Amino acid sequence: MKLKIIGSGGCVSTPRPCCNCPICVEAREKGFPYARTGCSLYLED
Ligand SMILES: [Zn+2]
Repeated sequence: MKLKIIGSGGCVSTPRPCCNCPICVEAREKGFPYARTGCSLYLED
């Protein structure tokens, strides 16, 4: 079995849906690298 780690930014993605705090607003405006995905794995088998 082969696993590929494709996301390790944090346990919660940024920006969070419907959140209007300054961090999420900045992430929506500027995109990468301010916007981050959450943890994710890709299973190749
Ligand atoms: Zn937020």
